Amino acid sequence: AKGGAKGTWQRYQPELHTAMTERLEVRAALHEAIDTQQFRTMYQPIIDLETGLITGVESLVRWEHPVRGLLGPYHFIEVAEESGAIVAIGDWVLREALRQFARWRADDPDMTLRYVSVNVSARQFRTPGFVDRVRAALDEAGAKPEWLLLEITESLVLRDAEQVWADLRMLRAMGVRIAIDDFGTGYSSLSYLRQMPVDVLKLDKSFIDDILTSDQQHTMVDAIVALARNLDLKVIAEGVEEPGQRAALARMGCPYGQGYLFSRPVWPAEIVALAHAEAQL
Ligand code: C2E
Ligand code: CA
Ligand code: CA
Ligand code: CA
Repeated sequence: AKGGAKGTWQRYQPELHTAMTERLEVRAALHEAIDTQQFRTMYQPIIDLETGLITGVESLVRWEHPVRGLLGPYHFIEVAEESGAIVAIGDWVLREALRQFARWRADDPDMTLRYVSVNVSARQFRTPGFVDRVRAALDEAGAKPEWLLLEITESLVLRDAEQVWADLRMLRAMGVRIAIDDFGTGYSSLSYLRQMPVDVLKLDKSFIDDILTSDQQHTMVDAIVALARNLDLKVIAEGVEEPGQRAALARMGCPYGQGYLFSRPVWPAEIVALAHAEAQL
């Protein structure tokens, strides 16, 4: 290092170099991946905790990399956010998920699936014309707005509230429903919740992890579920992994759950098997 003992910031850090090189490579490859359709969507069931029926699915993006194989979002979402590629990727997922959902409905009108839930990044939402792109995706797929649930983050709802809320109201007026993803990890105040133009809270896995072992967490979740009920909001508990967690949530009156206990994210064909009329999880 040139700057002497204190200049640790100048020292060559091979891991950092590797990480940066990898980020640059991912960044470059993402554009080609969009053009050559290397993205795929898996789907994870969302269960009605009273009946055990699948009522919805969440779409989760994967990158089928020609050399590295199937990559989860952890490998590329952050870089895609930074570079802006997330807008094209997210819009593709939206169109694909609606096409897939319309196909399921056409193949089996009796299936218990009522909606597909799609993750929307803040950057994608704030790129002008989002509401129009949602409308176009619905039209293109021949999908009803009621079939779509959009998952957004707490911070998006709180920042630039006016423009974002106006768009959310427009989407809800069309019949599209809105969920706050990872609810509880951000800083939305409970008093705000009453006014927010949203329909569903997806209660973050970190709350569910400890409901059986921590009285405090149990009390928290119980209170959020009760509050949501009073505000006419639905709750989906995320990351349900154990039967005991499911039972505790059901006792609290939490209406919906999602997690490895019911199913991992799966390919579309497996959803068909899970969601036919009599299937229960
Ligand atoms: P998320 O939206 O919170 O999605 C839930 C993540 O938790 C998924 O990981 C899912 O596979 C995982 N999960 C579900 N149940 C369980 C469980 O019981 N235990 C554990 N340990 N994990 C569970 P995945 O598919 O790797 O996605 C990670 C994140 O990537 C998502 O978190 C979401 O923030 C982002 N993401 C995925 N697809 C999209 C997309 O199309 N657009 C955008 N903007 N982000 C996406
Ligand atoms: Ca999500
Ligand atoms: Ca989540
Ligand atoms: Ca998450």
